[in-house]
Amino acid sequence: MKKTLDFINQANKWGAHNYHPIPVVIESGEGCWVYDVEGKKYLDMLSAYSAVNQGHRHPKIVNALIEQVNQIPLTSRAFHNNKMGSFLMKLCQLSGYEKALPMNTGAEAVETALKAARKWGYVKKKVEAGKAEIIACSNNFHGRTISIVSFSSEDQHQNDFGPVTPGFKVIPYGDADALEHAINENTVAFIMEPIQGEAGIIIPPEGYLKKVREITKKNNVLLIMDEIQTGFGRTGKLFAHQHEDIRPDIITLGKALGGGLYPISAILADDEVMEVFTPGDHGSTFGGNPLAAAIGMAAIDVIVEEGLAERADELGTYFIDGLKKIDSPYIKEIRGKGLMVGLEIKEEYGSARPLCEKLMNLGLLCKETHELTIRFCPSLKISKEEIDWAIENIKTVFAEDITQ
Ligand SMILES: *Cc1c(COP(=O)(O)O)cnc(C)c1O
Repeated sequence: MKKTLDFINQANKWGAHNYHPIPVVIESGEGCWVYDVEGKKYLDMLSAYSAVNQGHRHPKIVNALIEQVNQIPLTSRAFHNNKMGSFLMKLCQLSGYEKALPMNTGAEAVETALKAARKWGYVKKKVEAGKAEIIACSNNFHGRTISIVSFSSEDQHQNDFGPVTPGFKVIPYGDADALEHAINENTVAFIMEPIQGEAGIIIPPEGYLKKVREITKKNNVLLIMDEIQTGFGRTGKLFAHQHEDIRPDIITLGKALGGGLYPISAILADDEVMEVFTPGDHGSTFGGNPLAAAIGMAAIDVIVEEGLAERADELGTYFIDGLKKIDSPYIKEIRGKGLMVGLEIKEEYGSARPLCEKLMNLGLLCKETHELTIRFCPSLKISKEEIDWAIENIKTVFAEDITQ
């Protein structure tokens, strides 16, 4: 373990301590598996928070990267490039929206959506200057910029980072009446996750999305659906809001859009919203670069060609059923959709962290979220046999005395 400790100590010495990682140092990976610096093999059941839905180093996506690197990776938006248009066309045709706007990280996509909504509010809805309001949900996670943490309900996200950006209101998640009451003439948008990932895989009540869509439509309020974690097959549909057959006004995408290789994000909307942006309103040096476009196209192709959403649907049910059969006094609840699965332990057992470390020792990588929930989000290429293997190991850990 000397190598492992050396790498961890080095990162701790030279890096800011803004994370608390599981003590494993990964060196390489392929598909659903990764290898650490000691040569030990692990089943990756986090997939970089769903950024690796296609599996590590998918050959088609790696090839797209190599080909484009050998042509031209970066041009900036000062010039056109011959890849961005096809990438955006593919995104629009896949999702049924009229326009896409490319950025890099998820937080940037969310910022883009908020800017689009505010400007739409002033230009189209004719909200009085400076008065636009956006409603968000408690326990949301939309990223880490100052404006995004301004509507976080997590104390740690806001404390010591103020003053916060005004113009946001927070209401309980899953409560359609609360949304109806929170809307006023200045409300321009409601932003939500179809399933709250960071909050611990929280699934809203059945019918919530449909009601939210009705209420926002009736009040001329944009519905922004943050599909950064839930998108691209994770929950058993291409996008999680499709489980309730609704059409949001703006969708934010990220994570798996980069195929596990590169940060790529985007927002999708129709012209009615997207046309509010004029040159100079918004942009990014790297957004829509040819390398991102080539990788993004391959990442989308893999999801579609390999039927990864259907796979997630089928294997997710199989995984959740298997987990539910584990008989343990420590487990409070198993919940999930597709291969986005949470296992919550009872509060009296303190923290799920020691369980994640025990699973690491058995060769299974996962991570606790909000102390009590273990999030299982493997690559969508995972096989039934690998799921069986995971369940056996989870069973083993829960058969031990976890209070030790
Ligand atoms: C990860 C995530 C983000 C932020 O994405 P980054 O790429 O980390 O900036 C935003 N929204 C949701 C739902 C996410 O899961």
